[in-house]
Amino acid sequence: MSVTHAPQTTDVLTRQDPELAEILLGELHRQSSTLQLIAAENFCSPAVLAALGSPLANKYAEGYPGARHHGGCEIVDVAERLAVDRAKSLFGAEHANVQSHSGSSAVLAAYAALLRPGDTVLALGLPYGGHLTHGSPANFSGRWFDFVPYGVDAETGLIDHDQVRTLARTHRPKAIVCGSIAYPRHIDYAFFREVADEVGAYLIADAAHPIGLVAGGAAPSPVPYADVVCATTHKVLRGPRGGMILCGGELAERVDRAVFPFTQGGAQMHTIAAKAVAFGEAATPAFTAYAHQVVANARVLAATLVDEGLVVTTGGTDTHLVTADPAPLGVDGRTARGRLAAAGLVLDCCALPHADTRGLRLGTAAVTTQGMAEKEMMRIAALLAGVVRGEVESVPAREEVRDLVGGFPPYPA
Ligand SMILES: *Cc1c(COP(=O)(O)O)cnc(C)c1O
Repeated sequence: MSVTHAPQTTDVLTRQDPELAEILLGELHRQSSTLQLIAAENFCSPAVLAALGSPLANKYAEGYPGARHHGGCEIVDVAERLAVDRAKSLFGAEHANVQSHSGSSAVLAAYAALLRPGDTVLALGLPYGGHLTHGSPANFSGRWFDFVPYGVDAETGLIDHDQVRTLARTHRPKAIVCGSIAYPRHIDYAFFREVADEVGAYLIADAAHPIGLVAGGAAPSPVPYADVVCATTHKVLRGPRGGMILCGGELAERVDRAVFPFTQGGAQMHTIAAKAVAFGEAATPAFTAYAHQVVANARVLAATLVDEGLVVTTGGTDTHLVTADPAPLGVDGRTARGRLAAAGLVLDCCALPHADTRGLRLGTAAVTTQGMAEKEMMRIAALLAGVVRGEVESVPAREEVRDLVGGFPPYPA
């Protein structure tokens, strides 16, 4: 199989388990030969992958550095302290917990630290870009808490601040959640802080998406405003798949106990080491430049999609995220996604505010890591529109995608 060079030592697998090695190489080939436009994805560095594939994966480490339930933790304790110190300094936070296995478990722990079952929580409704953990009936959040959803303005697509204030005054929530899986604009954390203070609520920022932009100085930080910030480490931040919680010193102990032992067991030390590597990378000038290029790319992508006739939610973006309605091109989001997948453009559908049909959600984090810039964004948007319209058949489209990504291997040999 012709693939770009595998960043991990796949030769040992090729020898011992060719069946599985073939699967890894096949996935590497898929990632390098198609366009990764899923807004939540990225390509982490070979150094992050090396930490993930290290013998730290063998170590049991329940508890926290210096206070473990297992012996032999003296080395991994250093790794976790390093990850915590780097996270605190990167985000200017008094406390960081780097043990959450995922973004969702970070949110679960934040609720566990601050709330009791049955408490009222105000959060962006799922049809407007709220995450499953923001009150979906299929998720623990909707089952255990009383969620009141706020929405976005029908005209502008922007968060309806008046509605947030009114709902907060009416329902007196114990916590207000701000954060989204699809909202393309900056969130006004100062506004949410003010409303939370007025009604005596905690403010939880679920910054799973923008936290990488925050690290690179390309988006405002929720840290000075929120009582607790939940995040993932694998989206724009470009680290290993996992979660993280930032908070002030006064909530540190409650947050730590909510992660372990309340919602999790042993820490995943290989992932925590990889988080430390990613935080180190995110503190460099190269990452700052990356984060700003991610936003510049998304702006050009959004503008070109508008030129091509799609309706872009809020008219553009401040972040890596673009959501667009392909309806003016004659197809709904689901059909469009199918055509695009056949052409090698991999992206998601998403709910559209105030529309019955689904839209498309794209992000520029992965393609920007590959080194693509404004010129490539215009090419991608034009190709996308051509495929969605049915003007470009999937075979020539795939050719163009291969030609495009061929110049930007995510893991150069
Ligand atoms: C991605 C995301 C999560 C969940 O992260 P997982 O690691 O998939 O559990 C939670 N909240 C928001 C807003 C997200 O974007």
